Amino acid sequence: MQYALVDHQRIEARPKKRGKCEMCGSLLIAKCGSRKLHHWAHFRERNCDPWWENETQWHRDWKNLFPKECREIYHVADDGEIHRADIKSSTGIYIEVQHSSMTDQEREARENFYKNMIWIVDGTPFKNNFDIYHMLPPPNSKMAKDIVWAKAKRHMNGANAGMFFRLSDNPKETKATLKGGLLHSMREVKEELENAYDGHHQYDWVRPRGTWLDSKVPVFIDFGDCYVVQLMTYDESKLRCVRLVSKQKLVHDINTETKADNIATRFYKIEK
Ligand SMILES: [Zn+2]
Repeated sequence: MQYALVDHQRIEARPKKRGKCEMCGSLLIAKCGSRKLHHWAHFRERNCDPWWENETQWHRDWKNLFPKECREIYHVADDGEIHRADIKSSTGIYIEVQHSSMTDQEREARENFYKNMIWIVDGTPFKNNFDIYHMLPPPNSKMAKDIVWAKAKRHMNGANAGMFFRLSDNPKETKATLKGGLLHSMREVKEELENAYDGHHQYDWVRPRGTWLDSKVPVFIDFGDCYVVQLMTYDESKLRCVRLVSKQKLVHDINTETKADNIATRFYKIEK
């Protein structure tokens, strides 16, 4: 943990210091070796929060983007269950910063507990399995309403550059039913798409960590770039897509929005 109580102040670990856990009140020892991140650990028992994950520099970097009083905030549910969130914004959104993989049960338990939350997932362990392909128009735009995209997949070079069917060619079909027909290519819409672009792309995740695709709350993957990659479903064809969101915009919205679902949805512009 980053913080312990010492003389009623939240302080960071320093060599030989002792403190108290804010959540369970037991003794914490400062761990300040040269190889691991300086942190606090419970003296006798394991961490009092079974959900707690050992912190990496990556965790710490995310936490440090937020004010100190927003980091390591515990939440008590109506039934008395208690856990420590990595970050809670002053507007009431919980942020869980997750490096390790999780089971569906673990993920669901946290989503049910925090409810108004987002995930920030460390993507570096699976970066080479995650390809981001062509731009997509904003899902609610006029041009998007007529288009059903062919699913991009690694090595499918045509689809990965942007191939699609049109509902106007197939008036009896809907986005949910249209599976074939005359194929159109990106060239037809490229200019209009570039002008309308708001960060949506096709992608393929080879051997995905499937639990993140089933999440009921917003999931943002951090591959170490200046933007994060939000997992989304694009339209009624059930096409999965990603949206690139600048980290700056993400942090801004976490601090100003009150509902996790509204993050990165308004007044949105991204550099092409
Ligand atoms: Zn504790």
